[in-house]
Amino acid sequence: MARVWLDKITRRFSPSTAIEDISFEVPDGQFWVLVGPSGCGKSTILRIIAGLETANSGNLYIGDRLVNNVPARQRDVAMVFQNYALYPHMTVRENLAFGLRMRNTDPKTLQERVKSVARSLDIAHLLDRKPGQLSGGQQQRVALGRAIARKPQVFLLDEPLSNLDAQLRDDTRAELKQLHQQVGITTLYVTHDQIEAMTLADQIVVLNQGKVQQIGSPQTLYSDPVNQMVATFLGSPPMNLLQGIYQETHFEVEGQMLPVPNALSRKLQPAQGQCFNLGIRPEHLRVVSESEPVHLRAEVTLVEPLGREVLLRAVLPPRQTGSTLSLQVPPQLRPQVGDRLLLQLALDKLFVFDPSSGQRLS
Ligand code: ATP
Repeated sequence: MARVWLDKITRRFSPSTAIEDISFEVPDGQFWVLVGPSGCGKSTILRIIAGLETANSGNLYIGDRLVNNVPARQRDVAMVFQNYALYPHMTVRENLAFGLRMRNTDPKTLQERVKSVARSLDIAHLLDRKPGQLSGGQQQRVALGRAIARKPQVFLLDEPLSNLDAQLRDDTRAELKQLHQQVGITTLYVTHDQIEAMTLADQIVVLNQGKVQQIGSPQTLYSDPVNQMVATFLGSPPMNLLQGIYQETHFEVEGQMLPVPNALSRKLQPAQGQCFNLGIRPEHLRVVSESEPVHLRAEVTLVEPLGREVLLRAVLPPRQTGSTLSLQVPPQLRPQVGDRLLLQLALDKLFVFDPSSGQRLS
C-alpha cells in the first residue's frame, strides 16, 4: 500500500487541456473518488497514475517514489475498467491467477491467493467456468478479483459498476466498500454517479473542465460546497436553483418575496437590485399551512411516491413559465397534481451564488 500524490499535473491534448494543475494527495489506504461531468478529466487522471498516459508537466509520486518516468508495469498499480476485459478463453481461476503468474509467484502461494480472493468476492463456486458462462456482475467481480489477487500498492477503478443493472450495482457497491475495509489498498475510483461517490468515498475530488473544484468528505461537500457546480452536482434530487433579486430585506423571486436572513443581509448590503442564484436542497423545503410563515407558493406538477416519502415537482406561478422545484414530503400529505402548496424554506440552509462566477457568497 502507498500514498498517491499528484503535484501540479497538467495534460494537454492539442488544442485543448484535459486536466490543468491538478494537485492532491491520497493518504495510504484511503478510498478517494473522482467525480464530475463527462469530459472533466477523471479518466485522464487515472490513466496518468497507471502510467498509460504521460503528463506534460507536474510530478506524480506513489509512496515516496517519483514515478513520472516509471513504466506502467513497474508501478505496482492495478486498474479495473468499465468493460471487464477478462480473458475469454481462460477459466475464472486462470483469470484470477494471471497477474500472479506474470510475476512468477510460486504455485502454492498462487493457489492460496486465488482461493482467498475468490472466497472474499463470493466467486469460489465459479472458478472452473469461463467468463462467457457468468453474469455481468460475476464477471465484474472476477475483474476486481484479478486486480486484488496481485496485491497492488494502488487500486484504480474507472466506472467499474456502470455496466451493471441497478440492483446489482447497489450490491456490488456495498461489496466493494467491505472489500476495501478488509484489504485497505489505497484506491482511486472514477464515477459520474454522485451516489457512488457519496457512499464509497473517504474523500471526494470534484472536477469540472479539467480543474479541481473542491476536495472534501462527502458530508462536507454536501453541506458546505464552495460553488454552484459542486452544490448542484452532489445530491439527489439535486439542489433547487432560483433567481432572486436582492431588495434589502427580501429576495424577489418571480414576483414572490423571500426573506433574507439578517447575517446574509449584512453581507449582501451593497448589492441592492442585483440578481443572485439561490440554492435550496429539496429536504429544506417544507409544506406549511396559512397559519405559519409562508415563503413561496407553488403548484404540484408531478408526484413520485417512493414509499417512505414522496418526491414532488412543483412550479412557481405562472405555471407555464415559472421555475420548477423538487421537494420531499411525507406520504401522509397525499399530494395530488394541481395542489397549491405553501412552502417554507429553512432560510439558514439557503445558498447564494454569484451568477457569473458560480462562487458561493453565503
Ligand atoms: P467520461 O466521464 O466521459 O469518461 P472523463 O471525465 O473521464 O469523461 P477524460 O476521458 O479524462 O474525461 O477526457 C478529458 C478531456 O480530454 C475530454 O475533453 C477528452 O475529449 C479529452 N481527451 C481524452 N483523451 C484524449 C486523447 N487521447 N486525444 C484527445 N483528447 C483527449
